[in-house]
Amino acid sequence: EPGPAVVGRFAPTPSGPLHFGSLLAALASWLDARAKKGRWLLRIEDIDPPRCPPGASDTIIEQLDAFGLYHDGAVKYQHEHDSDYQKALDALVACGMAYPCSCSRREWQHLGIYPGWCRQGPLHPERDCAWRLRTDSGEPEIYWQDRRLGHQRWSLPDLGDVVLKRRDGLWAYQLAVVVDDARQGVTDIVRGADLLDNTPWQIRLQQALGYATPKYLHLPLVVAANGQKLSKQNLAPALPLQHDAVRPLLHEALILLGQSPSPTLRRAHVDDQLKAAIESWQPHNLCPGNVQRTTSI
Ligand code: GLU
Repeated sequence: EPGPAVVGRFAPTPSGPLHFGSLLAALASWLDARAKKGRWLLRIEDIDPPRCPPGASDTIIEQLDAFGLYHDGAVKYQHEHDSDYQKALDALVACGMAYPCSCSRREWQHLGIYPGWCRQGPLHPERDCAWRLRTDSGEPEIYWQDRRLGHQRWSLPDLGDVVLKRRDGLWAYQLAVVVDDARQGVTDIVRGADLLDNTPWQIRLQQALGYATPKYLHLPLVVAANGQKLSKQNLAPALPLQHDAVRPLLHEALILLGQSPSPTLRRAHVDDQLKAAIESWQPHNLCPGNVQRTTSI
C-alpha cells in the first residue's frame, strides 16, 4: 500500500549563490523526498528584490543541476504570488489575527521583541504601517515533533508579534513561506536549524489559515573549521559547477549528513553517488549537534 504522497521542497532566497551550508539543506530535503518516492519542488524566495542580485536564481538552478539535484515541475518564484499572500493576510485581518503597526524598529529594539504597542490600533496613524501577527499572552504553546531534535515546545508571546507584511509593502518570509508550502502541498520540510525558531510562528499561521502542518526536520548547522556558521554574510564560497570539484564536495556533504557513502564513490558521477545515497538514506543518523567541516573549498 503506498502511503500518502510525500512532497518536499528547497526554498532558497536568491541573495547570492548557494554555499556548502545550503547544499546540505538541498541535498537532505532531496534525499528525503526521493527515498520516499516523493516529489521535490524548487521555490525561489525572491520577495525581497533589493536583497536579490539579478541572475542569482539562475546561478542557484545551475548549481543544483551540477550536483544532480533535479526538481519536479516548474520552478516557482515568490514574486509572482502577491495576490495569494494578500488573500492570506486579508483572512488573518478578518479574524483579528493580524494588525497594522506603525512603530519603527528603532523605537522598540532595545526591548528585544516587539512589545505590541499597536495592538489596540496604530500609535502613529500618519505613518505607513506594517502588518503583524497578534499573539495573546494566554495562548497555548506551539508543539511539534521535530524529526531530528525531537519534541519542541515554544511559547509564541516569548517570540513576539512577527511581521507579515513590511512597512515598505514587501511581504515577509513568515507569511509567504506558509502560504506557498500549503499551496504547493508540501508535506515534509527539511531545512537548516537556523530556521528552527521561525517554525512556531509558521505553525500558528497554518492553524489560523486552516492549513495542514507539515512534518519538520531541522538539519545540523555546518560550522567552518574555526567554529563560525557558514553563511553568505561571512562569505562562505559559492558552490562550484565543475564536476571535478562537485563530486568530492557531494561526498563530503553526505558524510556531514551522517550517511556513510562508500569512499570509492568520492570521485564518482553525482548520479551514482545520489543513487546509492537514496538507497541508504537514514535520517536517524543525522548528528544531534552542529557539524564541522574539516576541509575548505
Ligand atoms: N528562504 C529561506 C532561506 O533561504 C528558507 C526557507 C525555508 O526553507 O523555509 O533561508
